[in-house]
Amino acid sequence: MIPLAKPDITEKEREAVLDVLRTPQLSLGPKLKEFEEKIAEYIGVRHALAVNSGTSALHLVIRALGIREGDEVITTPFSFISSSNCILYERAKPIFVDIDSETYNIDTKKIEEKITGNTKAIIAVDVFGRPADWNNLAKIAKKHNIKLIEDSAESFGSDFEGKKCGSFGDAAIFGFYPNKQITTGEGGAVVTDDREIFESCHSMRNQGRDNISNGQHDRLGYNYRLSELNCALGIAQLERIEEIIAKRKKVKDLYYEKLSNIRELILPSENKNDNPNLFVYTVRLADEFSRYDRDHIMMELNERGIQCGNYFTPIHLQPSYVKKFGFKKGDFPICENVSERIIALPFFNALSEGEISYIAQNLKEILKKKEKQ
Ligand SMILES: *Cc1c(COP(=O)(O)O)cnc(C)c1O
Repeated sequence: MIPLAKPDITEKEREAVLDVLRTPQLSLGPKLKEFEEKIAEYIGVRHALAVNSGTSALHLVIRALGIREGDEVITTPFSFISSSNCILYERAKPIFVDIDSETYNIDTKKIEEKITGNTKAIIAVDVFGRPADWNNLAKIAKKHNIKLIEDSAESFGSDFEGKKCGSFGDAAIFGFYPNKQITTGEGGAVVTDDREIFESCHSMRNQGRDNISNGQHDRLGYNYRLSELNCALGIAQLERIEEIIAKRKKVKDLYYEKLSNIRELILPSENKNDNPNLFVYTVRLADEFSRYDRDHIMMELNERGIQCGNYFTPIHLQPSYVKKFGFKKGDFPICENVSERIIALPFFNALSEGEISYIAQNLKEILKKKEKQ
């Protein structure tokens, strides 16, 4: 079976984790500090805070910005559910805006009509590693005096107009789950230029301590700490980032080479403004195909030893959101259309040209069979 994702762990990472195990300090030690400094330097921001997941990072940012009950946060329905759940944690309301059919990111043309007196922030997501339109997002946020949060959990290493994703909003987050571009096993980070946001997140990561460590707790906090073992793994991965980006680009280019002549498939578009370090490689079936066709094609790929994914299910159609807010099919038609026709193909650093040819060949055969039916 060719898996959908596979972490790229070398001897360097294994040694780094073992080295930590030979020290007495397994949490809140030098590796945390080093990992955070390296992230901040790489992204080009003043502060980075490593935490135990991308979702924890999002929750800290929401808290640090004071978003609470009665507030509205504009976001995309086409994402991993975490980018919207973090709004619900603080009883604020997600206001969804449909997506752009080419980039699959929030459609900035449709944002302003959704802004009300209660709007506090926009959370935009770099879906599948493709940068959102950060220029327009920043303009809109500034014009309406609302905060801009970057969920860059899927875009570590991607550039937008020559700057790294994670350096555009008031704060940004990354995720380091094993299927992401770099991994710490579990983990995430908050990055920001804003000292107040950083200090607030720093305190809340460790139970709301006052940061002087005299046992005082200033505010409600959590245990969102990331252990030294995870940080050591993260440092070793980050030191290999250029190699990782090059490998992923090669896989992306090979996919393009082998799939671009298949009429039925819409491949990730190229855009002059950005240089994505893709999270997954997705193909979208042309509109003549139904959701049923897509599911059938995925099943056949699976039977041929090719694991694939159907993300994302629109967040507004997730049962918990339908129950809570009464969303229905048709509310965000572009998001739904994309969601019904998309297939995520295996995408990882070590995917070989032979495997990519095998995947392309099988996709062709399956699509040809469909045509004859
Ligand atoms: C992976 C991801 C996260 C963070 O996920 P965790 O599993 O909590 O680390 C957040 N947002 C998006 C869009 C993601 O893909």
